[in-house]
Amino acid sequence: MSASPPATHTKPSFLRGLFQGEITETLLFPYPATLDERRPDEAATVHRLIAALNAMVASGLIDPRQMDENETLGEPVIKAFAEAGLLGLTTPKEYGGLGLSASAYARVFGAVASVDASLGVLIGVHCGLGGKALVLFGNDEQKARYLPALARGEMLAAYALTEPETGSDAQHIVTTARRNTENTGWLLNGRKHWIGNGHRAGMIATFAQTPIERNGETIMRPTAFIVRPDMPGFRIDGTVRKLGIRASTQAELVFEDCFVPDDHVLGEVGKGFRVAVNA
Ligand SMILES: Cc1cc2nc3c(=O)[nH]c(=O)nc-3n(C[C@H](O)[C@H](O)[C@H](O)COP(=O)(O)OP(=O)(O)OC[C@H]3O[C@@H](n4cnc5c(N)ncnc54)[C@H](O)[C@@H]3O)c2cc1C
Repeated sequence: MSASPPATHTKPSFLRGLFQGEITETLLFPYPATLDERRPDEAATVHRLIAALNAMVASGLIDPRQMDENETLGEPVIKAFAEAGLLGLTTPKEYGGLGLSASAYARVFGAVASVDASLGVLIGVHCGLGGKALVLFGNDEQKARYLPALARGEMLAAYALTEPETGSDAQHIVTTARRNTENTGWLLNGRKHWIGNGHRAGMIATFAQTPIERNGETIMRPTAFIVRPDMPGFRIDGTVRKLGIRASTQAELVFEDCFVPDDHVLGEVGKGFRVAVNA
């Protein structure tokens, strides 16, 4: 039996090279110019944000030891983050955020996480996961409705993918969404756990299996939804205590016939896995 030929890839990939035991130096060098050289305006924003963060530490507003003991970040810290612009790092400027590039975001994120990893989780979940799903896949109406409020810190974003039965294997989540009898939206049923910001989020990007037609058959594929805590059938079933990053809170969320209207589908029905991995 002849072996099948290896897949041919036209574009070189640094990561693929690592798996093949090769370091593709041409993809690394010349090392890119620093952010200060490439984008001085954006670098100035980064310096301003880090200075604001350091001032919060110096004034005692951020006290990692206290936050760890209390197992919470506290509203004053979230308010100060919002005022400094730290909750709108990845939100496009037209929606009231700073619209930072990936390298600028990484610089700020590194500074935040080095003060306290729990603060890193707050920013990562808000700007990098829940908010990012909306930036990448939200329609104009969804963006206009939620992004300015997220950038101003009036609400936090969460990203609810993991379930008691399914973590890494995100394609096989068991939460389902079926059409309601009035055909105006979806009824979600299932549980999500380990959800950062989940206990206080105003907007949660979540995922459920929905029936779709393919080749004359009905199959189940994940769809992304925007869930708000005031939607009927949504419940927070407590939070998880941890040994580390204790000031960051992870919640258990329950959907019991949770009604999500059609205008809160994020991206296309049946294409939720794309949303999950791209965010
Ligand atoms: C502090 C914290 C915050 C979190 N925040 C969020 C959040 O905001 N939103 C959210 O949705 N989730 C969140 N999670 C959940 C996190 O994404 C999951 O824990 C993660 O996806 C792993 O899933 P799991 O815990 O079910 O482990 P499993 O998927 O059961 O994996 C267990 C072990 O098996 C290994 N493994 C799994 N599959 C394979 C494979 N195919 N081959 C080889 N090894 C494999 C894994 O690497 C791991 O070591 C959070 C978790 C923590 C701890």
